[in-house]
Amino acid sequence: MDLSDVGDDLTEVLLIERQILDRIAELARFIEADYAGERPLLVGVLKGAVMVMADVARELRLHVDLDWMAVSSYGEGTQSSGVVRILKDLDSDLTGRHVIIIEDIMDSGLTLSWLTANLQSRGPASLEILALLRKPNKARPDVDAKYVGFDIPDAFVVGYGLDYAEKYRNLRGVGVLAPHIYQ
Ligand code: 5GP
Repeated sequence: MDLSDVGDDLTEVLLIERQILDRIAELARFIEADYAGERPLLVGVLKGAVMVMADVARELRLHVDLDWMAVSSYGEGTQSSGVVRILKDLDSDLTGRHVIIIEDIMDSGLTLSWLTANLQSRGPASLEILALLRKPNKARPDVDAKYVGFDIPDAFVVGYGLDYAEKYRNLRGVGVLAPHIYQ
C-alpha cells in the first residue's frame, strides 16, 4: 500500500520507502563491520518490526539467525502503558550469542529497557539494539540503540510495520496519523 492510498489519514509524510531502504543499507554496512566473522542473532519484536527485520536481514552480507518475540506495550491507544508482557518468547538459546534486537520505534524506551534487561539475563555474548525510528523522549531511561535509522518528531506515526489498531502496517512509508483517526 502506498502513502497516496490512505488519503487524508496522514497529516504528514515523514519517510518514503526509498529513504528507509537507503538508510537500512547504511546501517547494514555498520553491522557487517561490527560483526565481521560472526553470525549474529537478530531478534525482531513482533509485529511492528516485521518490515525492518525483513529488510535489514536481506541487506546484510552476513549469515544471521532470525528469531521473534512478541511483547505488548501499547494496546490500542497511542500512549505507552509502561506494562510489558511477553506474548511470545524466543525459540533460541541466547547463551554466548551476539544478539541484535530489531525494533521499529523507540519512544519512552520502556519496552526496550525491559527487553534489554530480560535478554541480558539469558547470557548473550553481546546485546545491541537497532531501532528504525527514535522519538525525542526526555523521560527515556538508560537504554540506547547502537543503530538508529531516523530521529523523528514526537508524533504518533504509522506505516512500515507500525500500526494504529492493526491498520497501516503494510504502508510502504511512514507518516503522522491524523488526529481525526484516533480521537
Ligand atoms: P516505548 O516503550 O519506547 O514507549 O514504545 C515502544 C513501542 O510503542 C513500539 O514498539 C511501538 O509498538 C509503540 N509505539 C511507540 N510510538 C509509536 C508510534 O508513534 N506509532 C506506533 N504505531 N506505535 C508506537
